[in-house]
Amino acid sequence: MNIYGDRGNVLSLVRRTRAQGFAPRVVEVNPGDPLPDDVDIVLGGGGQDSGQGRVAKDLAVKRDEIHRLVAEGVPMLMVCGLYQLFGHRFITHTGDELRGIGVLDVETRGGDVRMIGNIVLDTEEFGEVIGYENHSGNTTLGPQSRPFGRVTQGAGNNPDDGLEGARSHHVIGTYLHGSVLPKNPRVSDFLIARAAERRYGGFTPIAEIGDTVTRARESAKRRPR
Ligand code: GLN
Repeated sequence: MNIYGDRGNVLSLVRRTRAQGFAPRVVEVNPGDPLPDDVDIVLGGGGQDSGQGRVAKDLAVKRDEIHRLVAEGVPMLMVCGLYQLFGHRFITHTGDELRGIGVLDVETRGGDVRMIGNIVLDTEEFGEVIGYENHSGNTTLGPQSRPFGRVTQGAGNNPDDGLEGARSHHVIGTYLHGSVLPKNPRVSDFLIARAAERRYGGFTPIAEIGDTVTRARESAKRRPR
């Protein structure tokens, strides 16, 4: 799935990976397509409830393979609609239950209120992270997931607990569109570093790449929700 510019995550990750001297190959996986044999990083985007139904069926087929990759330490970034489906289940606002694949110990229920606007997080691993959220699903974390961050502006997983996203192994689930990677290069660097360590047994960045997010960060803060 790919709405609200989530494709920008792919573009930005490819660019940053090239800057480290790698030659990334992007493989698009649509419902019914097999997963490629040799995966280093997995990205997933957001989508409407209707599209999520189709993707949920396809994920059920890929479930064991994805769990194997997660256990092997493959880094993954799942945004919004796919974040929800990486949890146990998503009950839509019309009461339909979409089964997730349980990579993340989270559960989501559709609500009547949409959470829309710029969002700012304080994260342990990446410092301040910014993005844009647009969802009506309310997600709650189970004991096996830790949050991606704490919300300092916006809603996040739900309007109540001040938490955003979920982390487990090298998987990040988050509501942040934006796209999130171009605005938060440290998250890209995390995905690249974990992938390179897994493949080559270690990783030393060859390039200090500029962090040009200051202006985006400032404008996100200036604009009220
Ligand atoms: N359909 C989901 C929700 O509104 C996901 C939306 C999205 O991916 N932006 O909660």
